[in-house]
Amino acid sequence: MHPLVLSTANPDKRVEIAEILSEVLPGLELLERPAGVPEIEESGASLEENARLKARALAEATGLGALADDTGLEVDALSGAPGIRSARFAGPGASYSDNVAKLLGALSGSSHRSARFRTVALARLADGRELVCEGVLDGSIAEAPRGQGGFGYDPVFVPAGGDGRTLAELPPAAKHEISARGKAFRGLARLLLEEVGPCGS
Ligand code: IMP
Repeated sequence: MHPLVLSTANPDKRVEIAEILSEVLPGLELLERPAGVPEIEESGASLEENARLKARALAEATGLGALADDTGLEVDALSGAPGIRSARFAGPGASYSDNVAKLLGALSGSSHRSARFRTVALARLADGRELVCEGVLDGSIAEAPRGQGGFGYDPVFVPAGGDGRTLAELPPAAKHEISARGKAFRGLARLLLEEVGPCGS
């Protein structure tokens, strides 16, 4: 399999994607986005549109196959917000802790705390073919942050069916096993294997 360029500039996401893909496609070479190719604005109306915009722009700029993803946290009591606006929930340039503080404030006093992470992972191959896979993790929003692992909203996200720990309290491999990103990229890796064959072939 040819190397693929990763669209994201977020180091937390890069590490997770590399860890997840190495399990399914151990020989796959992931390249960093070249410095001269800026990350494009997420102007799409859906996670899939955003992932497609990012992968297409990168594939066109480099002539290589590209991988992109977009993730949103959907909170039922907030009618699905922040959704595609998860990165900038507390405003442009918001930090992870700004976003978490805004979320906890918005849910203050509410016992209706169900939520889910949704990730769309998309590969744009050098010949223009596109493969896409979505992963979802259901859960609920904790009353206060707990744990040092993960990133983003992980300290306040309690996966459904678990032991009550937040994603930030789980070791990375345990997060990947259940996470929306883990499901989306493992599924995408299987599609890549079917479409272009195993690494080295
Ligand atoms: P992105 O648009 O895919 O970069 O993700 C948007 C925002 O969602 C990020 O800035 C994080 O705040 C949050 N996010 C994405 N993935 C995760 C995750 O795996 N755990 C917790 N928060 C995440």
